[in-house]
Amino acid sequence: MSTQQVLDWLQTNEEQSIERFMDWLRIPSVGTDSKHDADTAKAADWAADHLKASGFSVEIKPTGTAEDPGQPIVLATSPGDADYTGPHVLFYGHYDVQPADPIELWESAPFEPIRKPAEGAMGERIVARGACDDKGQVMMFLEAMRGWYESTGKPGGGVKYTVLLEGEEESGSVNLERFVEDNKEMLSQTDVCLISDTGMLGRGKPAITYGVRGLTYLEVILTGPDQDLHSGLWGGRVPNPINELVKVLAQLWDQDRKVTIPNFYEGVRDLKDSERKEWESLGVDPVKALQGIGMPAEANVGEKGFSAIEREWARPTCDLNGIIAGYTGPGAKTVIPSQASVKLSFRLVDDQDSERIAESVIAWFHERTPPGCTWEFINHGGGAPATCATESAPLQAAFRAIGKACGIQPAMIKSGGSIPVAGLLKTTVGLETIFMGFGLEDDRVHSPNEKFELDCFRMGAKSHAALVEELLNS
Ligand SMILES: [Zn+2]
Repeated sequence: MSTQQVLDWLQTNEEQSIERFMDWLRIPSVGTDSKHDADTAKAADWAADHLKASGFSVEIKPTGTAEDPGQPIVLATSPGDADYTGPHVLFYGHYDVQPADPIELWESAPFEPIRKPAEGAMGERIVARGACDDKGQVMMFLEAMRGWYESTGKPGGGVKYTVLLEGEEESGSVNLERFVEDNKEMLSQTDVCLISDTGMLGRGKPAITYGVRGLTYLEVILTGPDQDLHSGLWGGRVPNPINELVKVLAQLWDQDRKVTIPNFYEGVRDLKDSERKEWESLGVDPVKALQGIGMPAEANVGEKGFSAIEREWARPTCDLNGIIAGYTGPGAKTVIPSQASVKLSFRLVDDQDSERIAESVIAWFHERTPPGCTWEFINHGGGAPATCATESAPLQAAFRAIGKACGIQPAMIKSGGSIPVAGLLKTTVGLETIFMGFGLEDDRVHSPNEKFELDCFRMGAKSHAALVEELLNS
């Protein structure tokens, strides 16, 4: 009943909601550029004021150190009804945006949002930097909160929320880890994290992303002789670091394209039959995707026993990202180089541990040290994967909410990419994350002419509104 009131409110007040959204977009909150520090502070204040007007208690928290201050974090809370028994939800989003460059490719000024009518497949939309990533997606939540407050007089509609909006997501969230550590006790009071920063399956096809992959990134340097050598005088007499390195690297995968590092698959959950069926029913065509990158059907290969989508969403991988060694200039130069190195990354899933994987990989290389050579390792960091259990009550609540708000059941999907904050909250505070995002593939996130379609905005605002009632009843 209450949800219907809020849905009506969203419809009646839509023009004002969009006006507010455009106001926020006018603030060029480019977090990575210190020239815009006043703007990022203004965008944080703007969000804080919006939440205050929806009854939330709001604080703006500085980050970083006195010498090296970071962008502020907006932290807001709603108390929840006295008899509220549902989960305490941590809503995470970011108010910083990517730089607008290259400016000359924008058809309209990046920080002067415009509303463009539908054309072709594209619906009516707002064009501006941050329209989708992430102001538009956060705005859906903010307006749903406004609707509940105006309709019931209760902040968050009676749900217990903590809202955390950061200003450094686009520049690596450098101060977030410390903030989470420092506020571990407060954040441990929350039960589940909710993020709107992902996409739908397509126009009119909402989706919940319940898993993102993690990452381990290492650089491995193999040193042989203390100088580059003449391959005629020394070839066949001394280990050539390039030859030796590639022989070792070739052992990383077996015949079935499984990674051979001991214990690598520890923490990888088995795919459920229901998940496999659900993903298959999405009708994603792997061959068509390959054709799009100039590859034929027979290129559909990967870890044996898994479909392309299963390999992307539910299986870990090992990839060489770069090999640096020897002579790479024009023409021929006969040389046995002193060193050869490789950059390699591992995408991780479920409960795999990024640090432990790095240790296992390093031990694996040590067991294969070529005679007389030495290894050096640089850990470029990484992040934990995050998978929310499909039977989780808040996930089910989000599923029902989107179904009711949009009139269509959301697809349950995962992402092959990484969203580090989810891994950070999982490892530090033990939170599972539900991604309820309404972006489209052609939203031009991070690119010129970024846009967010109003149909997506509406679906998102209605879904966040409907989620309140599902949480109240859970
Ligand atoms: Zn982004």
